[in-house]
Amino acid sequence: EFPAHGMRIRGLSIATPSGERSGLQVESRTTRLHTYTSTEDPALIPLRFHRYIREAQRPMPGVILIIEDEPSIAENIEFALETDGFLPIWTTTGGDGLEKLKTEAVDLIILDVGLPDMSGFDVCREIRAQSRVPVIFLTAREGEIDRVVGLELGADDYVVKPFSPRELVARVR
Ligand code: CA
Repeated sequence: EFPAHGMRIRGLSIATPSGERSGLQVESRTTRLHTYTSTEDPALIPLRFHRYIREAQRPMPGVILIIEDEPSIAENIEFALETDGFLPIWTTTGGDGLEKLKTEAVDLIILDVGLPDMSGFDVCREIRAQSRVPVIFLTAREGEIDRVVGLELGADDYVVKPFSPRELVARVR
């Protein structure tokens, strides 16, 4: 029975040049595997697969990692992202954020500068050592912007607190 727990349907693969194969491509967050039902006609794909096909035809939501220690801010961001169809993951420390990055397919990171365990700048440096995933900084003071930009940390954008979650989501988009 598939998809197994934790797997997502990534896409529907139909029509090799000879047209003898059609089926589903199944992918988990960490591994990729292909499962085909061989049939000459896509319409012959067993009915039990049809709901997976409908899932496959929906775009996968963007996974957004929020690294922010203030719950009220993080919850506002989470809500705005979910409303817009994104899939937020929230961690409160830089260390937890970096761990998440190893196990989750993250599409973008929202990174607070002032974290309890390490500076957001250091988190960004570690992210950049392994990944080009887009980073948006949350800074508490206008004065920090010069550092964000000046240190050439490889951040892609920044937002100064207090900010409107809708505006942040527009930047994410
Ligand atoms: Ca903070």
